[in-house]
Amino acid sequence: MSKIILERNICIGCGSCQAVCPKNWEMGDDAKINLLGSAKKEDEKYELEVSDLACNQEAADICPVQCIHIEK
Ligand code: SF4
Repeated sequence: MSKIILERNICIGCGSCQAVCPKNWEMGDDAKINLLGSAKKEDEKYELEVSDLACNQEAADICPVQCIHIEK
């Protein structure tokens, strides 16, 4: 299993992660991204465990503010 971690407070709402990985990323009404299916761990930190990272590594790589982290 791998873990995807989103520091949502840092997101600037550019939409790049959604563009490359719409299966897991969707823009919220507040113009910050939502990691679909994730659990809120602390303040603005969200985590999702997946067996296959698929396009999420690309989402992490493309994020301009590096608020998407992957733990393998
Ligand atoms: S790529 Fe980063 S800054 Fe842009 S919407 Fe996704 S999480 Fe937010």
